Amino acid sequence: MSEPALRLSGLTRSFTQGGVTIAVLRGVELSLARGEIVALLGPSGSGKSTLLQAAGLLEGGFGGAIAIDGVAAQALSDDSRTALRRDKLGFVYQFHHLLPDFTAEENVVLPQLVKGADRAEAHARARELLEALGLGARLEHRPSQLSGGEQQRVAVARALANRPVLVLADEPTGNLDEGTAAKVLAAFLALVRSQGSAALIATHNRALAAQTDRVVELHEGRLRPA
Ligand code: ADP
Ligand code: MG
Repeated sequence: MSEPALRLSGLTRSFTQGGVTIAVLRGVELSLARGEIVALLGPSGSGKSTLLQAAGLLEGGFGGAIAIDGVAAQALSDDSRTALRRDKLGFVYQFHHLLPDFTAEENVVLPQLVKGADRAEAHARARELLEALGLGARLEHRPSQLSGGEQQRVAVARALANRPVLVLADEPTGNLDEGTAAKVLAAFLALVRSQGSAALIATHNRALAAQTDRVVELHEGRLRPA
């Protein structure tokens, strides 16, 4: 039996600001099977980004246990944690964070080179992904020469480039108009499914959530089925 792509057990996180402590996550339990796509709902401020940061091994300060593809993350050294993130995870943020001085193709090539991919194969993979996302005629464009929806599609291609076990997406279409959001999302979900990655997608969009395998909702620091 294969390990889950993600397992969060008793995950807690509090923030203290100005002498006031707020318990944002109060014992989150979540397991994503390999290839499973789950939507994470919850009102603004409910802790969706905090939960994704925990799963993405981006920050410390969490209680409980986090395992990626069966590897317990907390016990790892910083170097091993960085390697785990690089080898198993892909991220899509609300704002794309593309490198402004590089073309669309180069932005998708870079994470592959960091992982040690062959240069020609990395370029072929980047072109294949960008073409699948409808950007075949935008390979040489820099982010500033692309529309918001096109930039977000490049960010999706970048996140999927290394065929991660788990894709984490924080309101990936939150800053796009409805029509563009629906298109970017459909392309994103189709690619995630075709390459068999699991995905956890924070969103306010119930139409998006309806296209996933399962929907969970953050409520008072814990997850419940939605
Ligand atoms: P969501 O993504 O669901 O909108 P967040 O995870 O961003 O929610 O935030 C959840 C709560 O945690 C908010 O009340 C926010 O103020 C608080 N919070 C998040 N990050 C920090 C931080 N670095 N310092 C203090 N409070 C924080
Ligand atoms: Mg958020």
